[in-house]
This record gives sequence, C-alpha cells and structure tokens, in this order.
Amino acid sequence: MDIRRLKPPLGLSLIALFVVLVISLHLMSSATQDSSALGGMYSKLLLINSLGSFLLLLLVGVNIYWLLLQLKKRVAGSRLTARMTFLFILLALAPSSIVFYYSMQFLQQSIDSWFDVRIDHAMEDALELGQAALDERMRTVLKQTEQTAYALQNIPESMLAITLDELHDRSDDDSELILFSREGKVLLSLGYESQNIIVDLPGEGVLFQIAPGKPYVGLEPSSGGRLRIRAVAFVRGDGEEYYVQILHPVSSRLSELAETVEGAFVHYRELTYLRSSLKTSFALTLSLILLLSLLAAIWSAFLSIRSIVAPLRRLAEGTQAVAEGHYEQKLPVNTRDELGFLVESFNIMTARIARARDEAHSSRLEVERHRAYLQTVLGNLSSGIMSFDSDMRLQTSNQAADTILHADLESLHGQFLPAVADEYPDLMELLETIGEHLSRKKSWQDDVQFDGAGGRQQLLCRGTPLFDQENVWQGAVVVFDDVTALMQAQRRAAWGEVAQRLAHEIKNPLTPIQLSAERLQHKLSKVLTSDADAAMLERSTRTIVQQVEAMKSMVNAFAEYAKPAAINLQRMDIAQLVGEVIALYPRQSGADFDFKLDPGLFYIFSDPVAMRQVLHNMFKNAMEACGSEQRCKLLLALRHIADGDMVELIVRDNGPGVPQEQAERLFEPYVTTKSKGTGLGLAIVKKIIEEHGGSIWLDTAYHDGAGFIIRLPAA
Ligand code: ADP
Repeated sequence: MDIRRLKPPLGLSLIALFVVLVISLHLMSSATQDSSALGGMYSKLLLINSLGSFLLLLLVGVNIYWLLLQLKKRVAGSRLTARMTFLFILLALAPSSIVFYYSMQFLQQSIDSWFDVRIDHAMEDALELGQAALDERMRTVLKQTEQTAYALQNIPESMLAITLDELHDRSDDDSELILFSREGKVLLSLGYESQNIIVDLPGEGVLFQIAPGKPYVGLEPSSGGRLRIRAVAFVRGDGEEYYVQILHPVSSRLSELAETVEGAFVHYRELTYLRSSLKTSFALTLSLILLLSLLAAIWSAFLSIRSIVAPLRRLAEGTQAVAEGHYEQKLPVNTRDELGFLVESFNIMTARIARARDEAHSSRLEVERHRAYLQTVLGNLSSGIMSFDSDMRLQTSNQAADTILHADLESLHGQFLPAVADEYPDLMELLETIGEHLSRKKSWQDDVQFDGAGGRQQLLCRGTPLFDQENVWQGAVVVFDDVTALMQAQRRAAWGEVAQRLAHEIKNPLTPIQLSAERLQHKLSKVLTSDADAAMLERSTRTIVQQVEAMKSMVNAFAEYAKPAAINLQRMDIAQLVGEVIALYPRQSGADFDFKLDPGLFYIFSDPVAMRQVLHNMFKNAMEACGSEQRCKLLLALRHIADGDMVELIVRDNGPGVPQEQAERLFEPYVTTKSKGTGLGLAIVKKIIEEHGGSIWLDTAYHDGAGFIIRLPAA
C-alpha cells in the first residue's frame, strides 16, 4: 500500500484510528491504576489496542516492503527514503527504549515498595486500633446496660418510670434507653430517638440469646450511614420480667475512621493478592504505549520522509529524463520552500534547454534545406564544381564534376589535392594547375588540356577565392566546363568550311587542265616528227592526266572529310563486325590477327558502313607502318569497362610506333609521314568515332609499336 496514493478520507480514518488508540491506551492505563472502576473494560481495551498496534504494524510492514521493492528496482529517491527512514527509526527507538527500560525498573520497584512489611503491619495495626476503640465503646455501653438492669431489679412497676428517668439523667450522653416487656410492649423510652413513633426493638434472634446474667451487645449500622451500639439486658422486676435496651450511636468521626481503615485494608489486601498480575498489566500497558508510539512514529516518519523526498525523487527522475533527451517534462511544484524553489528552477532550466534545442533543430533543418537546395542546384548544373578549404582540401563536388573527370570525387571529400591525384593519376595535370592557381588566392580562368580516362580533354576552368566577413581566405570554388567537344566541333566546322571551298576551288580548274593536256597531245602528236619528241609529249601528257586524277581523288577525300555527318546508327554486336572485317584479311595480305575478347556480347549503336571504314583504316595504317619486310602482327582486344557502360577496343601493332612529336597532332587532318598519304585517315576515323559518342586516342603506355584505344558507349 502506498500512503502517497491514499485518498484524504483514508488518511483521515488512519488519524482517527490513531486517536482512538491513544484514548483507549489512556483508559487502559487508568484501568491499571484503578482496577475497580475500569477493571472490566481492561481486557477489551487491551484487545482494541493490540488490534490497533497490529494494524499499525501491518501498515509499517507494507511500507517497508514497498520501500525494499523500490530499492530493488532502483527507483529514484528510494535510497534516500531508506536512509532517512532508518535514521528516523533509530532516533525514535533509542530514547524510547531507554525511557522504557528505566520506566519498567521504576515501576517494578514502586510496586514492590507498596507491599513493604512495615506498611503491612501498619495496616493491620490501624485496623486493630479501630476495632479496639469500638470494642471499648461497646464494653462501656454493655456495662451501662447491665447497671441499669441491676438498678431496676425488684422495683415495683409504679416506680419504674422514676428510677429509669433518674438513671437516664445520670447517664451522660445521647443514648436511648428503652424498657420493654417480653411480649415486645414498650413501657418506657428515653433518649434522643424517643420521639420516634416506631421504637427500634431487637429482633427475635437477639432476644433468644438473652437470659438473666447474659446480656447482648452488638454493633450495627444506623440511619445516615453511622454505626450504633445495641446493648440489651434482662430485668427481673417486681413480679414482672422486662428487657432494658440502650442504643448508643457511635460518634460519626469514629465510624468514619473505622470504615476508612477497613476499606483501605481491604483494598490493600486486594492489591497484595493482585501484585504480580498488576505488575504484568503495568508492563503490558507500558509496552503497548511504547509499541504504539514507536509504530506511529515510524509510520509518520514514512509519511513525512516521503513528502520530503518526493520533490527530490521527481527532480532525480526529471534529470534522468533530461539526460535521455526529454525536455518536455514539467515537474509539479507542491511546496514553497527551498525544494520547491529548486524544482521551479529545474522547470525553468529544462524549458530553456527545450527552447534552445527546438531553435537548434529548426536552424539545423533550415541549414539542411539550404544544403539540399544547393545540392540540387549543383547536381543539375552541367558545369563541374569543386570547392576547396583553406588547407586546399577538397570539400565538395557535384555530379557534373564526376562525369566530366570520369572520377568518383565524392569519396575523396576532405582529401588534399595530392591524395586526389594519387587516386586518379590521369587528373594530375589538371589538379596541379588548380593547386597553382589556388595558392595565389585570386580569381583566375584557364584552359587546361589533359589526357584523362575519357581521352584528351580540354577544360575551361574558372576559380574564385572565398573570403569570410573578416576578409580571411576560406578556400576557393572552381567551376569548369568540358569544352573538348565544342572545340573539336568548332575546329571541324572551320576545317569543313575551308575544305569544302578549297575542294571546290581546286576541282574547278582540274578538268580543263586534264582536257587541255589531252587536246595538246592529240594535236601535237601528228605534228611532231621525231619519235623522241612524241614519246616525251606522250609521257608529259600522261603525267599531267595522272596527277590531275590523283589530285581529284585527293580533293574528293578532302571533301569526304569535310562532308557533314550522315550516319545511320543501329544496334549491333561490334565483336561480330570486327570478326567480319578481320576475315577480309587473309594470310597472304601479310597481317596476322590476334583477337582477344572478354565473355559476353558487345552491343553498341553504330553505323556498320562507317565502323567498317574505321577498322579498315586502322588495319591499313598498321600494315603500312610495318612495311613489306616484316609480317604485321595486329593485337586486338575487346572488353567492357565502366560497369558495362562502355565498350573498349584496343588495336596494337608491332610496327615502329608513332614518333613523340607527331603523337599530339596525329588525329588532325594532313598529318602524314607517307609520300602518297593524305593525312586524312585518322581524322576521318576520329570524326566517325565521335559521331558515335565515343572517343579514340593513342595508347601512350604501349611501346612495342603503335596502340590505339577506342571507347564507345554500350547499347
Ligand atoms: P595517311 O595514312 O594518309 O598518312 P592517316 O591519318 O591515316 O593518314 O595517318 C597519319 C599518319 O599517322 C601516318 O602518316 C603515319 O605516320 C601515322 N600512323 C598512323 N597509323 C600508324 C601506325 N599504326 N603506326 C605508325 N604510324 C602510324
């Protein structure tokens, strides 16, 4: 049972029970002292008090059990409650035990001292003294009665009245003198009660005892609670027989004293008889009082400690809740003391923390929102963006940067530039340029060209330094665009324009030149007489016609290169196409093919005619480079890269390779080392590959000949 949860009526009834117990205890202690008055109720009171004590004991027991349970569960405040309860019990127990011990001692001794031998004797003596006084008085009255009877002996009836009157006059006090016959007839009555209508005569029993010389004397109660002495004697008159009676009232003081002494003696005897049970009941009462007060004290200790500990417990629970991050809890303030102040301060504190947390949360959300917004904007930009901190560590980058640089920059956030370069050696050139510009802490713009994973790339980079409000350099942001395709397109467009015009201009005079040469030969061959001259004319004319023919085909090739794209893409397996083209080169052609391909299919979107042209051109170049002296070995490899997004075709030969100075401009038109070469083959190859969305570059890592890498998007 938890006293805290007791409703007021129950609490009140408990207080009422306590009051009833105190009253019954009081009554019990009174009963112990005055057994005659409350003796009958003693056992009932004892029962009530025992029951009450048992009830309180039960209450305390339940509370202790409850406390132990709380201790076991490690409920906040339970240990403090236990410690304070223990202290309270100790404080209540120690003094009351001492008082109880000495009270018991004192009680035992006091009760023993009541029954001292001297007091015993004194009581008996007092009783005897009272008895002796009364006996003395009775003897006197008896003697007086006997004397009166003797004086009335043989006195004639007529003289009786006078003699009796004389005798009465002579007697001192207020006793009553009555003379009556054997039949009970009153002859004479003198004294203080003579005016009474009914004369008090002795009973039959008394008269029966009386005989001549054998009088009667006795003590008996009279009206008003007093005692009186009755003495009766036999009188032998003159021929008649009478009885004389003296009723003597005992003095009120004497009868009072006698009665008191006797009462006290009886009471004393009673107590002597009840001595041990008296001791027991005193001890019992005292023990009950002690038990009751102790239990009540412990119970009130529980109640008051709980009310003291309650705010502390709530504080402990509140602190725990705050530690777990629940700031909404508001503790009730029940007291106006220091504890109440503490709880109130705690409430204010948690409210402030909650407010601060909410503000922090909302600003964090705001920052997150901004961040997400920025992320979205950056993610949707086609330009690559990289930001660096003051230590030149890569802070952020967007998706476009990853795409342009063919790298996963996000995983390298927080890394220094050299670490990024270590991860992607292809980007070394670009990162060195960026690092150089960053160290100058100024705005900059630069064209950077480098050989990346996507071939030769040209980037247009712009850098802006970042300063904070105190104008302290915080790092920089670099924005770059891949202008490779743009530059190529521009160059190609320009070349196309020039080529078209040039081809037109060159082609125009070629036919007239050819016709003129043919006409010259036709006309002059008849005129010339010498065979030698005719042969020279014939040779010159043929040379002109042949060269014009060659020029025509050159101009046509040139026009072919400059022609706008007209390719027809379709989904096809490039491995199959490569196989088909290889089949067109038998052993007699002087080339040996070694075609390695990874497992799987290599589907791409491609124009088969254009792609055949590419392959023929590559193979022809390789065979021409090898020359007629050695057999040409062509190593071909086809594989998937970039998680299957791209298809890579490697073409390597065992020729002399491409000289360093030619490598950079290999794919530009009119770059040739051959006497009859046009230098347009690789330019057209590059154009076709780019029209397929792919790229081609020289494999600089291969040194046993020339190596080319072609990458095309997989379908
Ligand atoms: P052309 O074949 O008419 O010379 P290309 O554009 O096809 O024109 O070739 C350009 C130049 O590149 C060639 O003249 C040659 O010097 C060089 N080249 C091309 N392929 C190879 C190769 N496999 N080995 C060595 N050099 C090559």
